[in-house]
Amino acid sequence: MPELPEVETVRRRLAPVLVGERIAEVVLRRADLRGPFPVDFAARLTGHTVLELHRRAKHLLADLSSRETLLMHLGMSGDFRVEPGDALSPLDKHDHVILRLASGAAVIFNDPRRFGSMDLVATDALGEHPVLGALGPEPLSASFTPAVLARACRGRKTAIKVALLDQRIVAGLGNIYVVEALHRARLTPLRRAAVIATATGAPRPAALRLVPAIKQVLAEAIERAGNASYRGGRFRVYDREGQPCRRPRCTGTIRRRTQAGRSTFYCPVCQR
Ligand SMILES: [Zn+2]
Repeated sequence: MPELPEVETVRRRLAPVLVGERIAEVVLRRADLRGPFPVDFAARLTGHTVLELHRRAKHLLADLSSRETLLMHLGMSGDFRVEPGDALSPLDKHDHVILRLASGAAVIFNDPRRFGSMDLVATDALGEHPVLGALGPEPLSASFTPAVLARACRGRKTAIKVALLDQRIVAGLGNIYVVEALHRARLTPLRRAAVIATATGAPRPAALRLVPAIKQVLAEAIERAGNASYRGGRFRVYDREGQPCRRPRCTGTIRRRTQAGRSTFYCPVCQR
């Protein structure tokens, strides 16, 4: 399933192709993805120019000259490919949406499992969108600080690991990156979220370690996702139950637990 780093990599790949380009033609090869396409979807895109391509959590947002924003989610198996010329290679049966650009390039959305989605929202109403409007800070943005995270976790009895998966506390963090960041920050996933904050909501040292760890784990994953030649050996704890901890000089063995229905991996020796 594409996580934040993969979605950011897709954004970086599509932005140079889409931004500043006019959408010349839209081909829908079926009536729906996870849900139906919006009313008059193709007509509302055609002839308009993409002004900007943003990412918010795991959503891609293409602002259009029509003052609508094309909201895209990759779901479980969605991906985009770009075909440069006039001659498209043969289409796959899971190629569901084709955006033909004025440049001649085509941007093709392929999604075998069809949990992806596309929607159109008025650009100036994005803040009130039921999903986007409720999201917490973007983890890689300057507005995600130890003070902000500590304030959000203050007094919370839920486990810190579960709190970090709450999209209202921080946007778009998936299970893998939460367990990896907690290992880097030497913080056990089992403790209550409140331990990173004082009673007044000020950041404790754990919050000062955790926020940079989250940013670092994501930045490295984006770097890797953009570089197909570098794979393997990428996780310190994720999916490593029973294997030795990768922290230098730590003698711990990685354990697995289930928290809120998701697997948690951690080192009981160096994560406190
Ligand atoms: Zn360890």
